[in-house]
Amino acid sequence: MDYVYTPEPIPSVPVRGSHLQYAVSRIFCVGRNYAAHAREMGFDPDREPPFYFTKAANSLVLSGATIPYSLGTSNLHYEMELVIAISKPAFRVSVETAQDHIYGYACGLDMTRRDLQIKSREIGRPWDFGKAFENSAVITPLVPKSEIGELNLGNIDLFVNGVTKQKADLKDMIWNVSEIISNLSEYYHLNTGDLIYTGTPEGVGPVVTGDHLVGNIDQLGSLELHIGPAE
Ligand code: MN
Repeated sequence: MDYVYTPEPIPSVPVRGSHLQYAVSRIFCVGRNYAAHAREMGFDPDREPPFYFTKAANSLVLSGATIPYSLGTSNLHYEMELVIAISKPAFRVSVETAQDHIYGYACGLDMTRRDLQIKSREIGRPWDFGKAFENSAVITPLVPKSEIGELNLGNIDLFVNGVTKQKADLKDMIWNVSEIISNLSEYYHLNTGDLIYTGTPEGVGPVVTGDHLVGNIDQLGSLELHIGPAE
């Protein structure tokens, strides 16, 4: 194929214990999926249908990186999250069969320009400026579901410079992994290459240049991120 310019390689995530890369096409993110986080953001948690936003695949950053402090914000936040990678087409799948469509899992950070997100929210504008920006989707290598089975509970935490900031359990999600896949598959033909960030627990907060973030999810290992100067 002759392109007008030389395109970047397709964004991809390594698979733990393998030489393979999981090529990424879309990134979906669930909003307010832990009750205590919904409350800290000023909302009453409920069982209204989940809502979503997206990030571009080229906003992915692999764990261990140093990212520049993000442009246009003075309140860059971490949000530690479980990430699901889809294994095969999923369209209108039931909650009962949703697990069959999972390739694997990762630890992720949904980096957020909180000041821009809240400003957009207040005036009824899209969340893109607050959520979908360069280096905003941090991820570890994928752990295949074939190795660890279903992942519905277990510790999820985040430390900034060694201080605990987030600590919760995956079972506290308002919408669990199966329910998210089933619901999202009503709106999209999910397919291989789709990642889903499943929402963050309470304790979100700001980072500054020089910070060192470490997050953990049981069975998935650790995620690490350094915040560098703006550039
Ligand atoms: Mn989030």
